[in-house]
Parts: sequence; C-alpha cells; structure tokens
Amino acid sequence: MSRKYVIAGNWKMNKTPEEGRELASEIASIISKDASVDVVVCPSFVALDRVSQAIEGSAMKLGAQNLYPKTNGAYTGEASPEMLRAVFAKYVILGHSERREYFGESDAFVNEKVKFALENLISPILCIGETLEQREANETLEVVKTQLLGGLEDVESQSMGNVVIAYEPVWAIGAGKTATPEMAQEVHASIRALLTEKYGEAIAEKVRILYGGSMKPANADSLLSQTDIDGGLIGGASLDSKSFCDLIQSARAAS
Ligand code: PEP
Repeated sequence: MSRKYVIAGNWKMNKTPEEGRELASEIASIISKDASVDVVVCPSFVALDRVSQAIEGSAMKLGAQNLYPKTNGAYTGEASPEMLRAVFAKYVILGHSERREYFGESDAFVNEKVKFALENLISPILCIGETLEQREANETLEVVKTQLLGGLEDVESQSMGNVVIAYEPVWAIGAGKTATPEMAQEVHASIRALLTEKYGEAIAEKVRILYGGSMKPANADSLLSQTDIDGGLIGGASLDSKSFCDLIQSARAAS
C-alpha cells in the first residue's frame, strides 16, 4: 500500500510573521510545485496569514498549531476553525505533548477538537506518545492506545481519510534523542493494528502515521524506510530551510 508521505513543520512559538514569511518563501522556492510529498508548515497564529500569502501558488500547505472547538464567542485567546480556514489552513496539530503537559489538555478535550476540526474541513494531526517514565515502565503501547482511541472516539470511518496521526515519544521531542527506527516501527505497527481493529484494514492502510521526535536529515532515511512510518512531524529541524528541505528530499526518495 503506498501512502503519500507528509513532512510537517511544527514551528511552535518561533518566528515572527516576517521571519515566517522569509522561511516559508525559501522552502516554497526550493520545493516549487513538486507535490509528490505533502509539505505542511505550522506557524503560530499571528504568522499564519503572512505565511499563507508566501506559499500561495506553491505545493506547500498551511497548518495551525491549535484550534478551539467552538464557532465563535467569548473564548479569550483562542482561534476557531473558521478563522483558520479564512487564512487557508488545511491542517491543525492537536494533542501535542506540550499542550497536554503545559495546558492540561485531556484526551476528551483533544477528541472534541479532532471532531470539530473534521466537521469544519480541517485535517487534524493527532499527536500521541509516551513519556520516558511510561516507556521505562513498559507502558508505551497502553498509553498510545488510550490516547489514540480517546482522541478518535466517535470519529466515523468516512472521516479517517482526513486524519493524520503523529507518534511522538515525549522523551525524544527537542531532546536530540530519537527512537531507533525499530522502536518507532513497533509503535507505528501497533497504531495501525488498532486502527484496523476499529475501522477495518482498507481504512487503516490509508491513514498516514508520522514519526516526531528529533527527526533530522541524519536520521530521516532510516526512519522513513520503515513500513508504517509515513512521514515526520518536525520541530527544531523545521526552523531551517535547508534541514527541512533535506527532510522533504528524504521523503521523496523513500516514496
Ligand atoms: C515536535 O515537537 O513536534 C517535535 C517533533 O519536535 P523536535 O523535532 O524538535 O523534537
């Protein structure tokens, strides 16, 4: 089964609108109209509009780092799917471990956001992954199962073509430590098995499952060559056009 790779950059709380425009333009000029890999950049809310304009006409797509699951109203500091769609965001990162840890986001809240994103035609990139403590206690597969099934509760099979999963071991994020390709593949295969159980093989085989956690050009080829790794969610290495474009190149080569 061939799935189109996704390379998504999570810029986190980095880049002003002008810096974002510059970075996005550099990436857009390098990848041009080559759409063999889905390339997504996810700037902060304030940089979305400028980055959106910078990538117009290229094969790149825009993603946000969060949304609030309401149409509008008194939700200070939040942004609705309608606002994201107005700047042409097609993806949104949900359930990132930093939001779970610093903002107390539960599986139930992440699930509400996933469903609301889908209802509003934005593709969620649902992040799941264990902490170091959980891995050392042999709880990895259980934690991933709880977060996956919690995040996808009541998500219908016909929506699954628009869902992307990102397995991000928390201990590897921003740490310079990466899961070995075999470790990552084991978890990705278990995620696909859970999706098969819930939605059937035909649908599970189509869902893209990204790896995230210190992915960089030096380790990308071995990760992307694993059967169930369909791309990467990239933090640090997405802030530099050369590193990010090298990762896109690795995904093209693995396609
Ligand atoms: C992330 O936070 O989504 C991530 C993968 O970060 P990094 O690549 O910096 O580990």
